[in-house]
Amino acid sequence: MTRHDPIAALAAARHEFGEHGGVNMSIETSSTFTVLDPHTMPDLFSGRLGPDTDRQGCYLYGRHFNPTVYALGRQLAALEGTEAAYGAASGMGAIASVLMQVCRAGDHVVASRTIYGGTFALLHDFLPERAGVSTTFVDATDLAAVEAAVEPRTRVLFVETLSNPTLAVADIPRLAAIAHRHDALLVVDNTFAPVLVAPAQLGADVVVHSMTKFLSGASDLIAGAVCGTADFVRSMMDVHTGALMLLGPTLDPRIAFELSVRLPHLGLRMREHSHRAMTFAVRLRELGLDVRYPGLESHPQHALMQRMLTDEEFGFGGVLGLNVPDPEVANRLLDELQNREKFGWIAVSLGYFDTLMSVSAASTSSELGSDELKAAGIKPGYVRISVGFTGTLEQRWLQFEHALRRVGLIGASSGPRLVR
Ligand SMILES: *Cc1c(COP(=O)(O)O)cnc(C)c1O
Repeated sequence: MTRHDPIAALAAARHEFGEHGGVNMSIETSSTFTVLDPHTMPDLFSGRLGPDTDRQGCYLYGRHFNPTVYALGRQLAALEGTEAAYGAASGMGAIASVLMQVCRAGDHVVASRTIYGGTFALLHDFLPERAGVSTTFVDATDLAAVEAAVEPRTRVLFVETLSNPTLAVADIPRLAAIAHRHDALLVVDNTFAPVLVAPAQLGADVVVHSMTKFLSGASDLIAGAVCGTADFVRSMMDVHTGALMLLGPTLDPRIAFELSVRLPHLGLRMREHSHRAMTFAVRLRELGLDVRYPGLESHPQHALMQRMLTDEEFGFGGVLGLNVPDPEVANRLLDELQNREKFGWIAVSLGYFDTLMSVSAASTSSELGSDELKAAGIKPGYVRISVGFTGTLEQRWLQFEHALRRVGLIGASSGPRLVR
């Protein structure tokens, strides 16, 4: 199989002139667009005319296609190796719209039980009541369990490439085979692994992103993306039946522009995030700590992830997990790391240039009940760390080590103290 090269494809897609020959694309802020000939208006509404048809250059209204968002969409499609893509106002806007597009009342979803808390709440609490769409949650690394959960009305299999927060790796080719055997779509949230893995190239039908995270890289905006076939993206934008059009999670063109000038260094950033996360993971493990990182051979799906990488150069991602004995120790560690060492921030989210740290069970996974947390393998003392790249690696490691020592997770000399 020839591997998708997301960086090469992105560079090619971005080689478009702005409206006045600018090296960046133009920002089109108009919320409405004129037509030269009034007779073309019905064709715009029917979808016979529009930027995604052969007769290009016609736009209708800003909640429908916008030229700047559409240009970003072409770049995202290049990144993921899909035919098409479009922006959304948030990751949740993208995910909810995809699920509403594909599922009708009475339909069923099979989802990984370790997914982003908001997606979990949407599937577990919101959609059954409001839309009559039910979900069975499974351990997505157990393919037999996934297949056994499929029902006659299963329309979607939903997983994250790297699960939030446990960093389990989804076997995308095999999950795609299961989905397709049952006429369902494999929808993959690739928020944790942009550039590293291209799920659509491995069989996923739809790839969604929270662009709020690594794609932004600066924790300064909220945005999402839907990537898939041209037909699927067009269906999401249909004036009568499109979820992105009708539910209205519209990406602002100014934000789309912001993202377009960050994508060129996404590969560089992912490489450095991964390099630092890998280095920390190896050192934490050498100190005898219980660390979870897909780049470590001890990770149960390390070999699988390695097979799915677009290029080893970009590594295994910028997020690692650290199990400490209890939430009290976790909180003391984060307090030391933020307030004394200035190592990073106690905050949810990820993909920021600085390090972000949170105790998952008490924050981003608190939508899960205690049984669900247990089933998902999220322990009360599990700390999720999105490793940033500011400062030098060695300076950051010293800060990390000092904090670990001060809370007693490693001995006073640098000898390991095993913690179970
Ligand atoms: C943050 C996140 C989301 C939600 O994205 P928003 O942009 O906050 O709406 C979805 N999936 C994953 C994996 C995330 O980390």
